Amino acid sequence: SFSTCSPKVCIVGSGPAAFYTAQSLIKARQDVEVDLYERLPVPFGLVRFGVAPDHPEVKNVINTFTQTAKHPRCSFYGNVNVGKDVSVKELQQAYHAVVLSYGAEGNRSMGVPGEDLAGVYSAKDFVGWYNGLPSCRELSPDLSCETAVILGQGNVALDVARVLLSPIDILKKTDITQPALEALAESQVRRVLVVGRRGPMQVACTIKELREMVNLPNTRPDMVAADFEGVTEALKDLPRPRKRLTELMLKTAVEVPGEKEKRNKASRFWGLRFFRSPIEILADPDTNRTAGIRLGVNKLEGSGEGARAVLTGEVEDVTCGLVISSIGYKSIPIDPSVPFDSRKAIVPNNMGRIEQAAGLYCSGWLKTGPTGVIATTMNNSFDTARSMVEDMDSGTLDVSTARTGSQSICALLGKRGVKPVTFSDWEKIDIVEMRRGEATGKPREKLLTVEEMLQVARK
Ligand code: FAD
Repeated sequence: SFSTCSPKVCIVGSGPAAFYTAQSLIKARQDVEVDLYERLPVPFGLVRFGVAPDHPEVKNVINTFTQTAKHPRCSFYGNVNVGKDVSVKELQQAYHAVVLSYGAEGNRSMGVPGEDLAGVYSAKDFVGWYNGLPSCRELSPDLSCETAVILGQGNVALDVARVLLSPIDILKKTDITQPALEALAESQVRRVLVVGRRGPMQVACTIKELREMVNLPNTRPDMVAADFEGVTEALKDLPRPRKRLTELMLKTAVEVPGEKEKRNKASRFWGLRFFRSPIEILADPDTNRTAGIRLGVNKLEGSGEGARAVLTGEVEDVTCGLVISSIGYKSIPIDPSVPFDSRKAIVPNNMGRIEQAAGLYCSGWLKTGPTGVIATTMNNSFDTARSMVEDMDSGTLDVSTARTGSQSICALLGKRGVKPVTFSDWEKIDIVEMRRGEATGKPREKLLTVEEMLQVARK
């Protein structure tokens, strides 16, 4: 039968996955309308709250997202917590399709004794603190110790190490929050060890982030040359990106490139430590604060990317007052009606189609797990949009009967006392933040509480 109604799609979240899915859908079909529902009053997810303050170039994707948000067939509804303010079932009744793109807001825990001691933080919270995530505002980490141990060797671990050791003159020109800037200016942390379970050939970081560490002013790399035994011989068989990364590590570990004299003046150190797993966080018996960490010494079984770390039984204690675990983010279920694989911590899906749930899709870190850069998220979001367009074209996704869309959802929210923040409301926040930043030579000074954001949005 002939139908003039346009497909109405709802996306949960407003990070890269949400925006790239929306962009792709709008481009693929001239009739589709897309609404984004975001828990916070401000958009862009980890681009705002994850990406390091000294990586402004990465945040340029915000320009593209803004274009999408301003498209006549796209709307943003911030300050709407899906699963709480409105259920996924209710969204499904109002829209032809619902895409879950709410990321990975949970945290993988180390599962070792002492994990809850003062002085132990997750990288997720630490990053949220310096980036102004409202829920992490109260973290106020104690930086009065000399040594910090970071567990995990991915890019997030290196972001944290870099922020801990960066000269304050660099940080003060970024959009890092003022409280974090002040705390880091007073920081006593001189030495940061970035600890991994496996060896140099298994690190999860990329060369850009490692190079930033190597080139960080007023710091000196401090590696253990013995960790690199046999690495030179293995280089030739590595795929190119891994080879270049390993070469840089090797060079840093064994020769401290000709700059030794200059670097000897450096007052701060960092180093990668390999073949170590956390066994226990050790407490100072008087203060009951973190005083060290007991690491188990591992050996590798197998080789290459698939090598497994196996405890040897030997242990090593490292004195430190700060432990930051950077062993991964994790998605969490937000609505009991949505299938969830709690072992893999993702929504089970086939090319973005949520299994056994017609009309329900997913994209981004919720779909793939919390790995990869924004470009990876972009590609998997495009894949989800492609699946949706295929389903609309084939009729698997029925878009022939009209749906109420945001009209009924906003009515529902109104009844529940929830007032969404529109994209132009966000632009008011954006302007205030940029203006505040201008006063201190920063690109922006972020508003730190939801209350303040809402106040500015409703002016
Ligand atoms: P997110 O960006 O997390 O977006 C999810 C959104 O959903 C958030 O806005 C959240 O508030 C919202 N949400 C959550 N729950 C709900 C709910 N119940 N209702 C409504 N909304 C909800 N990539 C790079 O390319 N370069 C980098 O330098 C870089 N740095 C990074 C640094 C860190 C610390 C981290 C963690 C990641 C970094 N990445 C970087 C990776 C990049 O951030 C991710 O690939 C990308 O953000 C994943 O997108 P997403 O949309 O799936 O998730």
